[in-house]
Amino acid sequence: MNRIILDIAIVGAGPAGCTAALALKDSGLRVGLIDQARFPRDKTCGDAVAAYVPKVLATISPALRDAFQKIEERQPVNICRVVAPNGTALDFRFSDTGNIIKRIHLDNFLFNQAIAQPHVTAYCERRVTNVKQVSEGWEIETPQELFFARLIIGCDGAQSVVSRKLSDGRLLPDNYSAAVRGYYAGVTGTAPDVFELHFIDGFELGYFWIFPEVDGTCNVGVGGLSEYIAKKSINLRGLLQELISTHPTISPRFSRAHLLSEIKGFGLPLGSRKIPISGPGWMLCGDAAHLIDPLTGEGIGQAMVSGRYAGWKAAACFSENNFSADFMKAYDQQVYAKFWSSHRKSYWLQRYLAPRFWLFNRVANWAHRFPVIHRWIQRVIL
Ligand SMILES: Cc1cc2nc3c(=O)[nH]c(=O)nc-3n(C[C@H](O)[C@H](O)[C@H](O)COP(=O)(O)OP(=O)(O)OC[C@H]3O[C@@H](n4cnc5c(N)ncnc54)[C@H](O)[C@@H]3O)c2cc1C
Repeated sequence: MNRIILDIAIVGAGPAGCTAALALKDSGLRVGLIDQARFPRDKTCGDAVAAYVPKVLATISPALRDAFQKIEERQPVNICRVVAPNGTALDFRFSDTGNIIKRIHLDNFLFNQAIAQPHVTAYCERRVTNVKQVSEGWEIETPQELFFARLIIGCDGAQSVVSRKLSDGRLLPDNYSAAVRGYYAGVTGTAPDVFELHFIDGFELGYFWIFPEVDGTCNVGVGGLSEYIAKKSINLRGLLQELISTHPTISPRFSRAHLLSEIKGFGLPLGSRKIPISGPGWMLCGDAAHLIDPLTGEGIGQAMVSGRYAGWKAAACFSENNFSADFMKAYDQQVYAKFWSSHRKSYWLQRYLAPRFWLFNRVANWAHRFPVIHRWIQRVIL
């Protein structure tokens, strides 16, 4: 079997892995980006990219941010429409513009940017089956090659092999969500700059979404907490189709719509519990580090921020020749300082609202009538 020697092995070339590789630019280190897929590849997602993502890229290189702004498949959005269970819609306008970008395009953009760096070599269609600590580093097993690296960064998503081997990668149902999505054409009542979150009676720990793509189609999905879905025996695909065909305010908007894709589902490891995300010679980023917002289900931005921190930390490990657990701990602190309090807020907000859906309707009605309450919600919650 081929043996490939690297300084840093990044397992997974999604937003976390590619950002980690990009953050290592100018490090002079041999970085291997190992992924089981061949790019371009799709990833089941809502495609909503947080407004702060261009700023994250700019901290690596302003040219990277400029290249991101030129992605043609990017649909800018700056209004979040929250629809209460009683149908009352509230619009919240953001000063910073977010984007809806099909993951096939976003991830391919990041992948191409990463592999354009002379220090990065991509190893695609390599499924990592095991990682093993050996003297002075790691052995990373794939069916084709055995990689050896001084440092490993696990960016291999929700089902992370690296997280299971090196940390507490258990997917606990009260800290894990599931969601399904499909692409639809012909949905009415949408606006290009508005992304919609609909809260549904009888589905208290989740929501239904309609996100506009630049080509006029919509990413439509539904997701919620796994523990709740299991307890109520909810079939998410069935729920999506039921909402589209029978829900009083949603279904009329789909009367002439048609499905363009399969309805696909995937899991979301939530950032509502802390797991160790570093140790001697290793770090985890993105979904592998369980960093998804428990309320909104957003994880792309977190993946990129953690990937960037991990890239920077990895460069420091080499320049200071320090791969100890103590030295790596600063990475955990940096990531959790950034996300832990907002993820806890999301977690408690969801748990508080779920048994009080009537309150949701009432507050939405008040906010609809009194702009001061509307503004207060925007300030406090969003
Ligand atoms: C239905 C759904 C809707 C969502 N909607 C949104 C949204 O609108 N906005 C948002 O911000 N977030 C959303 N998320 C969450 C978001 O998709 C993730 O947080 C994000 O993809 C995390 O990026 P990542 O790089 O950590 O992992 P991924 O994007 O999953 O990338 C992991 C990479 O690792 C590779 N890999 C996996 N296992 C191995 C292996 N053993 N060997 C080699 N390679 C491997 C995969 O091929 C993949 O390329 C949604 C998730 C779901 C499921």
